[in-house]
This record gives sequence, structure tokens and C-alpha cells, in this order.
Amino acid sequence: MEHNKNFSSLVSVIGKMQLDFLRNDPTLLNLPQIVVVGGQSSGKSSVLENIVGKDFLPRGNNMVTRCPLILHIQRVAIPNPEFPNENVTEWAVFSHLDKTFTNFNDVKKEIERFTNILTENNPISSQPIDLTFYLPNVPELTLVDLPGLIQLTTQNQPKQIIEEIENLVKKYISQENSIILAVIPANQDFAVNQAMKVITEFDKTGDRTIGVLTKIDIMDQGTHALDILNGKVHPLKLGYIPVVNRSQKNIKEKVPIEKALAKEKMFFEESKIYRNISEKCGTPYLTQRLSSVLIEHIKKSLPSLLTQIRKEKQNCEEQLKQFEGPDSMSLIESKEKLCMILMHKFTQELTSTINGDSNKVQ
Ligand code: GDP
Ligand code: MG
Repeated sequence: MEHNKNFSSLVSVIGKMQLDFLRNDPTLLNLPQIVVVGGQSSGKSSVLENIVGKDFLPRGNNMVTRCPLILHIQRVAIPNPEFPNENVTEWAVFSHLDKTFTNFNDVKKEIERFTNILTENNPISSQPIDLTFYLPNVPELTLVDLPGLIQLTTQNQPKQIIEEIENLVKKYISQENSIILAVIPANQDFAVNQAMKVITEFDKTGDRTIGVLTKIDIMDQGTHALDILNGKVHPLKLGYIPVVNRSQKNIKEKVPIEKALAKEKMFFEESKIYRNISEKCGTPYLTQRLSSVLIEHIKKSLPSLLTQIRKEKQNCEEQLKQFEGPDSMSLIESKEKLCMILMHKFTQELTSTINGDSNKVQ
């Protein structure tokens, strides 16, 4: 545990890199992240809100998530040094806006507003929204929410969006550095789960997929999810975690997340089927698992990440050399120059974090 605590600062370094590269070229580096994948209405938004512990995602019956949402969760100290004279303990910031949000309903409105801008010309956009939550008492995580996979379109939706969503999902899960969070509704037949079918194409051996079974509370009477949890149906090395999120009725009645989390805990503790494994069920366990899986993954990826960064930096320096001379001034503004500065900055930052952390943990 101590080991992981020291390494959690790496999650924020990687998060910062994601932010800067996003503004330049998001495909330049293959950064470790957790990508949330599932069918429409499988419970992705519910799982994310429970992890963050806040209502902040737009809801609706039709396609609400229409572009990637990169969500960084950062831990902050109390009292908070950024707001020393105010009683602010939690806030959120978008990378596209110079504004601090302390009202999470406004975060929801901004996601809606910006999604509409990004999807002005096409119902689905691959341009991500980047949002950071600063919260006390949370493990640091970076999660990417994606539009839900669909098999049919409604009357006013163009047919090609089925493929566009699938391609967007594939773009994220094909990156070897992505951990895949597969959101699977337990009340539907596993064998026909479209998300798992797509995921299996890219993670054939199930090494980097973690399964979340939602809707455990509304499974058919007489059925249970134990066979899936025990890896008898489709084994995943990182396993499956069952959760109970708020139902549509709970959401309509504005049941607060804290109350829903307490209900979830009680559900597993009192269930005849799950009570023996209740400490490995539910959102708090999922959050803890995701955090340790991400940290382990970042640690494993560091050597290759550093090699990638050094190679890119070298490429940029070589390109820059070719342009030295009378025209070099115009290059100061060029992408290559900007990229080189970023690479340099992060190589330094990453190296010092690794050195600092490895000194502490060894
Ligand atoms: P998304 O489209 O994948 O983001 O799915 P949502 O999180 O919006 O959930 C779709 C619907 O399923 C909503 O009405 C949720 O209230 C409901 N839902 C999600 N998870 C659960 C669960 O664990 N139990 C119950 N009863 N309903 C759930
Ligand atoms: Mg959703």
C-alpha cells in the first residue's frame, strides 16, 4: 500500500502529460489510462459518477455521451492551499476554459454545452473534453468515458454512427497502454454482449481488461453472477467486480450518491449469494482496484514511455537543426519547437518523479 502511495504522484504526472499532448497531438504518445467501454445504457455514467462520488454527467435516454470525456481525478489536501480563505474543498476545471467550477451541476451543463459545440457538424466527435476533479480523500485516476456502443440507430440518427462509435472505441482500446474497464449489465445475456466482443478483438488474452457487472440488483430471480465473477464464463486476468448503481427511479427521485453507496454496501452484505465475497463487491472496492491496477500499469509502462519520449525529443531536435538559419524565427511558433519543449519538460519531470519515488520505495 505504502508502495502505491508513493507512486500515485505518477498518475498526476501522466495526467498532466495527457493534457499537454491533447492540445498538440493526442496520438503522439501511448499514455496509460483507463478506458470505459460498454453498450448504451449499460451503466457507464452511473459507474463513473459513483467513482467520483458526484452527480456531474448529463443523463438521458438517447445518446448523451457523443465525444470522449477524459476525466482526471486528483487528490487535494484540506485545508486547501488554492482557496485559503474560503471553505472550498472540492472543485473541477476543464482544459478548454479558464474557470473553476465548485458547483457540479454547472460541470454537467458545461459538458452538455461543449458536447453540442464539438458535435455541431457530426453527431459523434473524436475530439475529447478534458475535465479534472480536485477532491479530498480519493485515489488519483485517469478515466476516459466513451460513447456507448449501439447496434441500431433511431429514426433521426444517421446509420454511420454505429460504425463511428465502434471506431472511436477501437482507437482507444487498441492502445496497448490502455486498461479497459468493460461495463457489462448483469441482467443481460453475457454471450451477446457487444462490448466484450469488440474488446476481445484487441485484448485476446484478457490481460488488460477489468470487468464491472452492473445491475446486479435487477437480475432475473433465481439467477446470479457468480459464474462470471469466478471466471467460468469469460475469464479476465484482472477479474470482475459487481456493483449496484442507482436505478432510473432513484435518479428521478434525486437519491444522493452517498445514500446510494450505503444501499449498495447493504445489498452485498445482506445478499445470500454475495455476502461471503461482499468485501470484493461494490464501488469502493472497484475504485481501490482501479487505482492499484493503474499504478501497477504505469510502473510497468515507464521504461517504454521514457524511450518513446526520448525518441520523439530526438526526432524534434533533428528536425529543428535542419531548419536553423534565417528562417528559424518562424519556427519558434512551430509545432516541432513546442513539442520539443514539452518533451524536454516532461522527460525531466518524469525522471525526477521516478528517481524520487524509487528512492522512497526501495
Ligand atoms: P450509460 O448509457 O452506459 O452511461 O448508462 P447509465 O449509467 O446512464 O444507466 C442507464 C440506466 O440504467 C439508468 O436508468 C440507470 O439508472 C440504470 N442503471 C445503471 N446501473 C444500474 C444498476 O446497477 N442497478 C439499477 N437498478 N439500475 C441501473
Ligand atoms: Mg452515459
